[in-house]
Amino acid sequence: MNKLEKVDELTPYQLDFPKEALPEIFVKDALTTDERMWVPQSDNVWFRPLCLNRSQGYWVTLLKVKKSGVLSRHRHPQGVHGFVIKGRWEYLEHDWVAEEGSYIYEPPGETHTLVVPEGVDEMITFFQVNGMMCYVDPLGKVLGYDDVFTKIDLCKKHFLRVGLGEDFVNQFVR
Ligand code: FE
Repeated sequence: MNKLEKVDELTPYQLDFPKEALPEIFVKDALTTDERMWVPQSDNVWFRPLCLNRSQGYWVTLLKVKKSGVLSRHRHPQGVHGFVIKGRWEYLEHDWVAEEGSYIYEPPGETHTLVVPEGVDEMITFFQVNGMMCYVDPLGKVLGYDDVFTKIDLCKKHFLRVGLGEDFVNQFVR
């Protein structure tokens, strides 16, 4: 390392990052209205991938639900962090309403059904989901699941369909 003439709090780090480290992800316009960036998930439900972490098994997305959208009843074996950016929503299984600025932690063992109430045209929520989510019937029978790999797959198919090519997802995968 070269001797630095002068060092203060604005002196940037001088060394290379570890060569095994993965590149950062920077999404300048995460809330974009460019519909190609929003992957359809079910009726009136989309997600915008931000980080699809296949090496640690979690995914970070923006969830967008339009009027009358429902996110199917599901169980979380691992914790989830959420932060509401726009609109309002609730879980059928809880008595609170999440609104712009609300933070939510969903502990392992949570099973819930997300609905957007009357009068809300659109909600957008940041979610970090770990491991997987299991779609279940009202008595907990598992009907299906999502994990980081099914999410990557949905993204590939969508980006191919809208003309961006399936490799477009790679910028979000680590
Ligand atoms: Fe959930």
